[in-house]
Amino acid sequence: MGFESEYVTRFQERQTLLFMSYARNADVDLRPVEASMYDLCAAHQEYGSGDRKSGVLGSVATRGRVDWHPAVSDLRNRLDDPAGYGVSDHASRADVGAAMEGDLLELIEIRNRLAVEQGFKAYADLAMWSEGLDPDGVRRFVAAARDAALPGARRTVARERMTLETWFDDLERIGGPGPDDVPAAASALAHLLDLDEVADRISWVVRDQPIYGVAFALSIPGDVRILVGRSGSLTALMTAYHELGHALGHASNRATGIFRTWETTTDESTAVVMEAVASQLALNDDEQSRMAIVDQSERARLATSLLFEFDVNDRSERARELFTEWYEPLVPVDDPAVWARDTFRSVDPFYLQGYLIGNVMADATVAFLSERFPDDPGTWGAWLAENYYAPGRGSSLDDRLDALEDHRPKELDGVFRL
Ligand SMILES: [Zn+2]
Repeated sequence: MGFESEYVTRFQERQTLLFMSYARNADVDLRPVEASMYDLCAAHQEYGSGDRKSGVLGSVATRGRVDWHPAVSDLRNRLDDPAGYGVSDHASRADVGAAMEGDLLELIEIRNRLAVEQGFKAYADLAMWSEGLDPDGVRRFVAAARDAALPGARRTVARERMTLETWFDDLERIGGPGPDDVPAAASALAHLLDLDEVADRISWVVRDQPIYGVAFALSIPGDVRILVGRSGSLTALMTAYHELGHALGHASNRATGIFRTWETTTDESTAVVMEAVASQLALNDDEQSRMAIVDQSERARLATSLLFEFDVNDRSERARELFTEWYEPLVPVDDPAVWARDTFRSVDPFYLQGYLIGNVMADATVAFLSERFPDDPGTWGAWLAENYYAPGRGSSLDDRLDALEDHRPKELDGVFRL
């Protein structure tokens, strides 16, 4: 087998292991499969034929030579299990962060060094390049998104007395109540979009735990699973719609080989689009206005988090000071050691741009669909499947946005790599 088919096999194996770990609490070690992905990437010879497929294979291999490197894999898997740091169950997030900080600093340093070996200025540049993004353009876009969201978010933080420790509970309270059976509500949305046939390939696992969601593609397009936490709040419902967006993307993928995998920015944007579609089609005015407050707070937090990440990747020796400098304008910082207790610094680095780019894409997509196909959600589903889901990694996010014609968002002009 060649690189492409072997890599895709390992990729889906890893998805299966992730599902077993998160949804079944299985004691899973990801390091062996990541080591074999590393070996494949290290041995891959790049051919500069200039087509989409060789470009994607080249970027998968280049990123893989850092992300799947055994030293990176070791540290990442250790950091993904905070309980392994021996801190008491009652410890604050900052205390857990303090225990994890040394490993995280080492991980950042190793990733930067390996990225330099791959010919990049730093890991941030490699990560953006492999996603088809321009690092400076992304930073400018994210800074503008933060400026736009920060004033309103600060008012919400002050009014609701929000803290970093209670952030998600606070947002759940602001969002208010939601249905008790979120998979049923999400399936009703798929029905409204005339995507029942695709939704039939998606199975749901509900666990009674704080709200969060993850979609796993065990096999594309045939076996896609969604894990969600407890129901009963509007934010839990929106999380389910979001995961439905990921899952519909995988279950409607009509590509083959490496094009069945994804760029995280495209994948995340697709999920955010489904939240906006759901909000338009399934929420009443009151629910929409409560979610607008939640969204604005989250935009400010996500943009702050990503700008801090770019900064701390360059100057990790000042991590705690930088954290305070970036976060204080949004929310009080009691103990900046909390910076290290964040999987977006270790497990999913340089990932958050997907949510922020997705917000802009989502607004434009709903405006486009409302104008072209008013009162016809079945056509919305077909349009999304055709333009956003079917091409998989065979089409870039930049190219997907062309389908929006005159609604293509101008704010995103500078974020893509030329
Ligand atoms: Zn997501």
